[in-house]
Amino acid sequence: MFQAFLLKYGEIFLKGKNRYIFEDALVEQVRIAMDKVDGEFDVHKNLGRVYVEAKSDFDYDEAVDALKRIFGVMTICPVLILEKDDFEYLKEEVVKYFGETYPNRDGLTFKVFCKRARKNYPLNSMEMNMAFGEVLLNAYPELKVDVHKPEVELHVEIRERIYIYSILIPGPGGMPVGTAGKAMVLLSGGLDSPVAAYMMAKRGVKVEAVYFHAPPYTSERAKQKVVDLARIVSRYCGPIKLHVINFTDIQMSIYEKCPHDELTVIMRRYMMRIAQAIAEEDECLGLVTGESVGQVASQTMYSMACTDDVCHMPVYRPLVAFDKVEIIDIAEQIDTYETSILPFEDCCTIFVAKHPVTKPKVSVIAHHEERLGEDIDAMVKKALDEREIVECVY
Ligand code: ATP
Ligand code: MG
Repeated sequence: MFQAFLLKYGEIFLKGKNRYIFEDALVEQVRIAMDKVDGEFDVHKNLGRVYVEAKSDFDYDEAVDALKRIFGVMTICPVLILEKDDFEYLKEEVVKYFGETYPNRDGLTFKVFCKRARKNYPLNSMEMNMAFGEVLLNAYPELKVDVHKPEVELHVEIRERIYIYSILIPGPGGMPVGTAGKAMVLLSGGLDSPVAAYMMAKRGVKVEAVYFHAPPYTSERAKQKVVDLARIVSRYCGPIKLHVINFTDIQMSIYEKCPHDELTVIMRRYMMRIAQAIAEEDECLGLVTGESVGQVASQTMYSMACTDDVCHMPVYRPLVAFDKVEIIDIAEQIDTYETSILPFEDCCTIFVAKHPVTKPKVSVIAHHEERLGEDIDAMVKKALDEREIVECVY
């Protein structure tokens, strides 16, 4: 029955004079998403809403799934669009719509919300509300009107065409991707960083990613897992440019020359330095990690102060105050969970100390790092020069 969707957006309204930028970004994201759905669609904005109209046959569930992944969309309303606006005909269509949409009507409560954008239409909104209410009650005496908390809010809008809708499907909210600049996510194969990437994208941030591997200590499968995760996340945030860095030499050198209980912190500082260098090159405005206070030894506030010490870019940690169960909840919702828990080795777990420091001091760490000498700079340069770039698209 539905050949179109009306998308309502929330926070975009807050943006005052720049609203059109957000609307246009949303339209663009909707177009990209609908391109992947079988069928042809016309996407356009009109008076504070975005409409998606099918121009061919399409799969309803597939279309709704795609729309549910677009940040900036608050509500998805499947709409029936009518070309003819004769009132007798409209009444029949409203009755038909209701009957088909709600086959189980016993005791169902409803309220009609009419809107007349075309002021020359012969009836005003109040008159239409009454008339549609009456025909519905006549056709389906089992219905009840409830003006305060109706189960069904039936909207009939008289615009250049007539729009009828009552189904409200929640969208993901947030802001359209591309409206908030770009960030570089340190993406591992774990549970947290894919969720962190998703959450930044939800606020409109375009994401790129960097993954550190340590062949032959970490396998091709472990790397593939990260590519797979980036692909899953790209369903929400668009294509992700993933930089794969060979971290083996750097890690070995740290292992040989630095105190073992400081390995993780020092390693993390090198990850940050490298991520930042790529981020600058690609005009990112910040780094993103999946860290959360106290989750593991390397995620105490002391450790995070040590990693931030080597960054002049802001480091965003969207999960900083989340419990593991809360992170898992999101991972399940966005479909990264099953991939994240696959048991492949991570470069951090291989050279990890038995008793890592939990209260590292910036000055001490920086001092011990000096043991790495000038060789380390050459290694960093080599790792950057020889990085592999993988375009991750779903
Ligand atoms: P995750 O679930 O994201 O792997 P984690 O709980 O395993 O996180 P750590 O291993 O301490 O935590 O990593 C903390 C953060 O550092 C990660 O969220 C990620 O942003 C970054 N990170 C860790 N290892 C790597 C890696 N091999 N490549 C890229 N980023 C990494
Ligand atoms: Mg990890």
